[in-house]
Amino acid sequence: MTSESARKGLQFGHRARLMLTPAQVRLIDEQAHAARALWNLLHDWWTMLGKDKRSLATADAAIRQARKDIDWLAVLPAQASQAVLKTYFQAWQNHWEGRADKPKFKARLRAVMSVDIPQGRDLRIMRVHRRWGMVTIPKVGRVRFRWTRDLPIGKKASANNRITGARLVKDPLGWHIALRVQALQPEPERHQGPEVGLDAGVSVPLALSDGNHQTHDEWRSTKDKPNVWLTDKEQAKLLALQQRAARRKSFRKPGERTSHRLRATYDQIASLGARAKRRAVDWQHQTTTEIARTYSVIVVEDLTITNMVKSAKGTVEKPGKNVAQKSGLNRSISQEAWGRTVTMLTYKAARYGGILHKVPAPGTSQRCSVCGFTTPGSRESQAMFACKNEGCGWSGNADHNAARNILHLYRMGLALVPVAGRAIVRRAHRVEPATAR
Ligand SMILES: [Zn+2]
Repeated sequence: MTSESARKGLQFGHRARLMLTPAQVRLIDEQAHAARALWNLLHDWWTMLGKDKRSLATADAAIRQARKDIDWLAVLPAQASQAVLKTYFQAWQNHWEGRADKPKFKARLRAVMSVDIPQGRDLRIMRVHRRWGMVTIPKVGRVRFRWTRDLPIGKKASANNRITGARLVKDPLGWHIALRVQALQPEPERHQGPEVGLDAGVSVPLALSDGNHQTHDEWRSTKDKPNVWLTDKEQAKLLALQQRAARRKSFRKPGERTSHRLRATYDQIASLGARAKRRAVDWQHQTTTEIARTYSVIVVEDLTITNMVKSAKGTVEKPGKNVAQKSGLNRSISQEAWGRTVTMLTYKAARYGGILHKVPAPGTSQRCSVCGFTTPGSRESQAMFACKNEGCGWSGNADHNAARNILHLYRMGLALVPVAGRAIVRRAHRVEPATAR
């Protein structure tokens, strides 16, 4: 029963940290700087040129010439240079089709350092140990990486199941490889599990309408430790680093360059941030997998986080209402990174034969999920809901109440249908579109 129609193609990424020597790190750094410089040259050339002369072919010729003329561009493998061109062209395509802003220059300190390895076969991936794999990085050599997932290599690889390419990405924890994996997997059977409403809670990170919830009890925020995903020790270190950075910054004269020591402090702050994010993403992966395995229909509130952050503060003339509560909510949502949770749930639900629905949900936290009435004063605190409707009087956890309301809205047929042909893309400032990182 594995006819073609019962299978579906799946593209996913797999990220692994590379074990590099300092010399290898320098080599990849150089490649990344060359890739960024090439992008900037290309951007310069493209924007100077008349519209009629711009084409992929002329850009390709220009890049070939530049690689001959400029020595340091040659450290970037030819395939990676081609990938820069492709990404640049795609960035314009994204702009023309209304998905993204115009491509821009990439600044040395702000741009994400990355190098493409567009051909999967160049990688020659091997598993050398239960926990280790080996991969070839062009012009760098064989490099070890942590083996945490079965990858389609060697005899397991086929036309439909293979690694199609990779991208090297540097974050404050070092260079990683993001492998592009293409897999043809059997279409999952329809999920038979129960339906569930899900809310990003205040008292619990994720509240489920059936009374369950997902917590990370070992990771909690306190008054002294606003970041959930850091240990007390790390939080203290972060504070000390921030104070040191502020002090060093105060000694800086206007227009003076950032000192090496200040930059080193910034790097340490960023690396703590990256560590916290990695822990948050790990937790999200675990919980979303469990939810997608358990439930057939997952209903979430259609929140627009950016709008909420904006509206809470209001303006000077018109200050927002309940700023403290709302910004508390904002903090909990952005720290749990609600958007990422929803993205993970969407593709994981599909993988297990389930589906995710969004409902418009104004007032879900104020309404009583038992009697259905919104009675003023029912939400006693962030954590407690006590219905003030006479003849009801139900009381319980406010987050579970909201989650039940969300599920109820779905059952009443209020699920949002995505509007065709209208690209609504919200990106945080400075975040490049997916193909133009
Ligand atoms: Zn009630």
